[in-house]
Amino acid sequence: MSRFWSPFVKDLVPYVPGEQPKLARLVKLNTNENPYGPSPKALQAMHGELNDNLRLYPDPNSDRLKQAVAEYYGVTPAQVFVGNGSDEVLAHIFHGLFQHARGPLLFPDVSYSFYPVYCGLYGIPFEQVALDEQFQIRVADYNRPNAGVIFPNPNAPTGCLLPLQAIEQLLQANRDSVVVVDEAYIDFGGETAISLVDRYDNLLVTQTLSKSRSLAGLRVGLAVGHPDLIEALERIKNSFNSYPLDRMAIVGAAAAFEDRAYFEATRRKVIDSREALVGQLLAKGFEVLPSAANFIFARHPGQDAAQLAARLREQGVIVRHFKQERIAQFLRITIGTPEMNQALIDALS
Ligand SMILES: *Cc1c(COP(=O)(O)O)cnc(C)c1O
Repeated sequence: MSRFWSPFVKDLVPYVPGEQPKLARLVKLNTNENPYGPSPKALQAMHGELNDNLRLYPDPNSDRLKQAVAEYYGVTPAQVFVGNGSDEVLAHIFHGLFQHARGPLLFPDVSYSFYPVYCGLYGIPFEQVALDEQFQIRVADYNRPNAGVIFPNPNAPTGCLLPLQAIEQLLQANRDSVVVVDEAYIDFGGETAISLVDRYDNLLVTQTLSKSRSLAGLRVGLAVGHPDLIEALERIKNSFNSYPLDRMAIVGAAAAFEDRAYFEATRRKVIDSREALVGQLLAKGFEVLPSAANFIFARHPGQDAAQLAARLREQGVIVRHFKQERIAQFLRITIGTPEMNQALIDALS
């Protein structure tokens, strides 16, 4: 802190990302990255972009990528926004769509811990709505005046899925505010709400290429919704950074969307490994919440979660532990390859 800071900076509470260890030999099950590499076609497309063209700015509108996303989901490019990771897309959403006098922004009490951080950054009042005892979202609890609603589906860090039908109820009850469904993990077991954007002009769906498309290092995220919502995001983006996606990111992300076969094969492997790992953890006495994501949320009735995480780390396996009271006895474990998952089971044994 110094006298040169703008006053609001001293009150900021930044997000703390999961550890990115410098030691390569650790089994890394802590930040929900994909254990398989990106599509070889995406890598090839990026290699093809490494040339003298890098002296030129990229396409500020990322049209090539918007086209690929629009084709994949059967929407128009005017319904697609892209940004530098979905975290940046979410930041623009908070900034441009959630500042209203009608009431607070609503999101679950157990949810993505970046949401309250953006509220702090943009001065947005919010209320955290308690999940039920099974850690499920109760949509009826969101039937009250609000400046907007946001939740991940499947939820993070629980992995629990809200069915499309319940999302539709929520949309109908909140016609006057924007409902954002953060689908960072939807490809691992849910059905996307993008099928509802033509019927609900208050729906915005966000996704990332960091998880199911194995490109966390590239930083690409997107939103799909009514063109009027997209236009608000474009205005913010063009008032902040004209070129959030570089030349490599645009072609790599587009190629990743076009390589459906690789996408289907790798996500199937992750889903199958998840089911196998859940079985092994249940056999060890863990309680595991039903997961539709590439991670599971588990607790052991006889072991303190923080201690368990520390002892796993000593054995070279890192998982994520959150201090928040309601979930302090849970561990969030990313699904790895069968070998990585076995290393976890061996360490627990
Ligand atoms: C990982 C994650 C994101 C952010 O993804 P990036 O595109 O890597 O910024 C957003 N929301 C949730 C719920 C996530 O878990």
